[in-house]
Amino acid sequence: MSNNKKEKIFSQLRKDLVSGTWVIYSTERKKRPDFSKEKAAKKESAEDLKKCPFCKENILDQEKDLLVYLKKNKDWSLKVFPNKFPALCANYKNINNREHGPFEVIDGVGHHEVLVTEDHQKDIPEMEIERVAEVIDAYQDRYLALMNKRHIKYISIFKNYGCEAGASLKHPHSQIMAMPVIDPDVFRSLSGSENYYKSHLECVHCVMIEWEKESGKRIIFENEEFVAVCPFVSRVPFEMRIYPKRHLSYFERITDEQKIKLAEAMKFCLSKLKKNLNDPAYNLFLHTAPCNGQAYDHYHWHFEIFPKTNIWAGLELSTGIEVCSVIPERGAEMLRE
Ligand SMILES: [Zn+2]
Ligand SMILES: [Zn+2]
Repeated sequence: MSNNKKEKIFSQLRKDLVSGTWVIYSTERKKRPDFSKEKAAKKESAEDLKKCPFCKENILDQEKDLLVYLKKNKDWSLKVFPNKFPALCANYKNINNREHGPFEVIDGVGHHEVLVTEDHQKDIPEMEIERVAEVIDAYQDRYLALMNKRHIKYISIFKNYGCEAGASLKHPHSQIMAMPVIDPDVFRSLSGSENYYKSHLECVHCVMIEWEKESGKRIIFENEEFVAVCPFVSRVPFEMRIYPKRHLSYFERITDEQKIKLAEAMKFCLSKLKKNLNDPAYNLFLHTAPCNGQAYDHYHWHFEIFPKTNIWAGLELSTGIEVCSVIPERGAEMLRE
């Protein structure tokens, strides 16, 4: 397949009539590398390492790097490139929004990128603070590059760690997805914050942060700019949120000093998770104001960390109510230790 004659991928978004949830259907995703539980548990051999598609030797020929950070010796330390198995198709001119019977259907247009750091063995807990800040800097860089592209309404930045969390490769990486819709989870978070703001004239997150700082029970980490807590209403054991202490709505405006402070918080939380809880799989993601041209000054951006410690069973699926086996105060205590 030549570069200029790219096969158009199939991707479509369908909206549920009752819940308003969007689902992406993408045929590309099933071609991803297999990373089974057995494979993940096995120690990697030198042979496995040689085959890692994100290791330096193997991605020299990456056809189109979107971002490269170089070290003093001209070797790269971080790279962003298009996901080889995208859930959304970047090769678009127009977006086709149509009805299908009573349903709403949208072409799966958008951008799906992968961010890779150089060292196969060093993830955030093992990285130097400056390197973690570099990852955050790259998140911002790509966010700014994608936010004004046509049809893009929301940019999701996330990291899956471990096969139970959906990672298909061991090599440390994050993903950036620019989407034509605002995803339902973010929508709930936005409208909940807006409703609270309207009735209390205060940011709900600022109120929670203040209260957590007074109580101290669920705080895991704090520096001048950020605070990490196990939320009072955690959905899973050891759930964590990292908030800027000041009321900030737009992640893309983060300053260089704040990046260092956020890197400290992120490294601390993920190191504790790894050491104190025997290295569980987790998902880390950003919640920030959408980039659909509207103002979201009532929103307060933050990162969430969801360790994969719960399995969604009948109760959770039927009612959305989760049963959490660890009380957040105890969770925070175990993480701080
Ligand atoms: Zn690798
Ligand atoms: Zn706030």
